[in-house]
Amino acid sequence: MFGAIEAGGTKIVCAYGKDPENLTVSPPIPTTSPKETLERIREFFAGRKLKRTGIACFGPLEIAKGRIAPLTPKIEWRGFPIVKAVEKALGCPAVLDTDVNGAALGEHLWGAAKKSTHFVYVTVGTGIGGGTMLNGQLIHGLLHPEVGHMRVRRFGGDEYGGHCPVHGDCLEGLACGPAIAARYGVAKAEELQDHHPGWALEAHYLGQMAVNLACAYSPELLILGGGIGLKRGMVEMVRQTAAQEMNGYAPLPKIVRAKLGGRAGVLGALALAIGV
Ligand SMILES: [Zn+2]
Repeated sequence: MFGAIEAGGTKIVCAYGKDPENLTVSPPIPTTSPKETLERIREFFAGRKLKRTGIACFGPLEIAKGRIAPLTPKIEWRGFPIVKAVEKALGCPAVLDTDVNGAALGEHLWGAAKKSTHFVYVTVGTGIGGGTMLNGQLIHGLLHPEVGHMRVRRFGGDEYGGHCPVHGDCLEGLACGPAIAARYGVAKAEELQDHHPGWALEAHYLGQMAVNLACAYSPELLILGGGIGLKRGMVEMVRQTAAQEMNGYAPLPKIVRAKLGGRAGVLGALALAIGV
């Protein structure tokens, strides 16, 4: 049996089991102080014999050091050695990775990337993040890739300042859900109707992202997840804008919808525990 911890900035979901069909999932645990949160996690897993636990975590992370990066905006969690703390609380080895790398691995084991070892998974929702697998390995690098903060060219006439507190108009700043909502004065991007020009603008930015990813990694597959990535028609629009942007220079990845949907987080953590 494996353990899974989906650690988000506001809530944590735990689960144990051996595959997506045989999984017992906890109710959401609020992300409060590390001490209090760890105690709730320990209570959920009490008495379970786990082979390994995967932690799919909000970032930024220092994965090699097994801790949350000291620069996280969540002050109490700065530098917190989450791997050691979970191993001590649950009495089994733990594997840490970003939530998006976890989701990418989940798509590889059970979803849209079952037959692919060379793909990028990107979630587009309240934020934008991506996980990349090349030659069957998730890539990490110096810290870990931050796909959401790549730079894109502004679409003509788009004067919205951008939602990213660090960069303003990076990809996430221009194309995350709150950016769309703010640009058109609605509470949530999902309120915009299907034919609203905001979706074409969104597809323009995601098309640029697809081209940037294709130029950097030449993946065979680009999987779009998250509330906006999975919106009806979005994948089709992004295929078009990406083709226009690439202008025939290099092959584009096949762009498809994520299959794990709302379970991407917890199944991502399970995938990290199981491994490739
Ligand atoms: Zn940014």
